[in-house]
Amino acid sequence: MANVRFSTGDSLPLEMHKVRIVQKLDLPPIERRLEAMAEAGNNTFLLQNRDIFLDMLTDSGVNAMSDQQLAAMMVADDSYAGSATFTKLENKLNELFGMPHFLPAHQGRACEHIIASTLVKPGSIVPMNFHFTTTKAHIMRKGGTVVELLIDEGLKTTSEFPFKGNLDVGKLRHVIDEHGADSIPFVRLEAGTNLIGGQPFSLRNAREVAEVCRAHGIPTVLDASLLQDNLYFIKQRESACRDMSIREITRALADEMDVIYFSARKLGFAKGGGICVRDDALLAKMRELIPLFEGFLTYGGMSVREMEAIVVGLDETMDEDVISQGPQFIQFMTDELVRAGIPVVTPAGGLGCHLNAMEFLPHVPQCEYPAGALAAALYIASGVRGMERGTMSEAREPDGSEAPSQMELLRLAMPRRVFTLSQVKYAIDRIVWLHGHRDLIGGLAFTEEPAVLRFFFGRLRPTSDWQAELARAFRADLGDSL
Ligand SMILES: *Cc1c(COP(=O)(O)O)cnc(C)c1O
Repeated sequence: MANVRFSTGDSLPLEMHKVRIVQKLDLPPIERRLEAMAEAGNNTFLLQNRDIFLDMLTDSGVNAMSDQQLAAMMVADDSYAGSATFTKLENKLNELFGMPHFLPAHQGRACEHIIASTLVKPGSIVPMNFHFTTTKAHIMRKGGTVVELLIDEGLKTTSEFPFKGNLDVGKLRHVIDEHGADSIPFVRLEAGTNLIGGQPFSLRNAREVAEVCRAHGIPTVLDASLLQDNLYFIKQRESACRDMSIREITRALADEMDVIYFSARKLGFAKGGGICVRDDALLAKMRELIPLFEGFLTYGGMSVREMEAIVVGLDETMDEDVISQGPQFIQFMTDELVRAGIPVVTPAGGLGCHLNAMEFLPHVPQCEYPAGALAAALYIASGVRGMERGTMSEAREPDGSEAPSQMELLRLAMPRRVFTLSQVKYAIDRIVWLHGHRDLIGGLAFTEEPAVLRFFFGRLRPTSDWQAELARAFRADLGDSL
């Protein structure tokens, strides 16, 4: 991606790729969108793809592949054991991260399952910059407790701080003193911290965290699923790294870590995942679980074609022209929304643009899920699908009570290399319209609530008939326009 100055003085992100395969999109009329939202139980996870115009739910498994990746998929070595494709992937990861061992797994949460099963015991404390939904679920399932040590600045929705994903090293020292290193199986750093708006940590912070861990004999684990954007931000925002290549930054970060795991649904523009391990003893413990839960050690539940695509995708991740597209589109969207007075998370992060639903809908209490309500409202007003990242995405406490989430965000993910700038501008326009009619938006209440990861397939109802009113206002303002 290049940021190009036009002769009019505007500066716009310019795609450094051309589109050679396209998928037709439909934009259903608002009457259908109203119906579809009701059919989906007001949960955007339950919408059918045919009812969606721009799918900004996630960046997971929906990034566009390159011609080079498709070509590589054709030469995949398809064998159950001893596939040459596996060796290629193992070598590529070794080249980038410098870790001697690689264990394949079918996606990110499968890595978390293996890591938690191997290292977490009842009573374990797992400090991290911030939790991710599936990570926390796997740690809790093994009887462990997640302790979030994000710097205070990280939870301020608007800020100029460049590394809101940093882990507070002072808090880490305190937690180690309080609980003892023996009860801490590892410290986890999440790159491109997902649930706080795709916010990065700095290389300097990772080094400081690793130094404290080394002094206490505690292993460091990097969740590298969203590493791509984090690398870009380190290069852009950390002055000491300005002259380093993306490859050098990657290696410098990896050198501080004992374990690196990732979802290749995000990192590598394909589908799959895996765990890179430094220590032989740790490898031996984790390795046993791969054939049991994932597949044989040379595929781990992945298709060999996807593995070939990951090898190429990892190289593309080291190309600044490629990896800057997401962050630059997100920056564009964030800047335009800020200019229109709309509450968004700043500074712009990776992964997507994040609307602050708590401020967008101050009249909707957290027990009525403002971020979920905003997701439903935006779909009705635009056919754009986002994802609730707030109280709905949290688990209830063991006693059944519901703690309000620290943030109520509507995430509008920017899958890599997928959207055009005019599509991004459409989304911005409809968000601005919605903000002008925010008083019409009401809350949601669960009608079906699963006990685990309820946001995936729970169903809700609007607390009043606000959705029909919103649709009436839309038709009054925009007529027959879609
Ligand atoms: C998506 C994600 C995961 C889980 O990966 P899946 O492939 O979806 O299972 C773990 N950690 C982070 C930070 C993620 O963004």
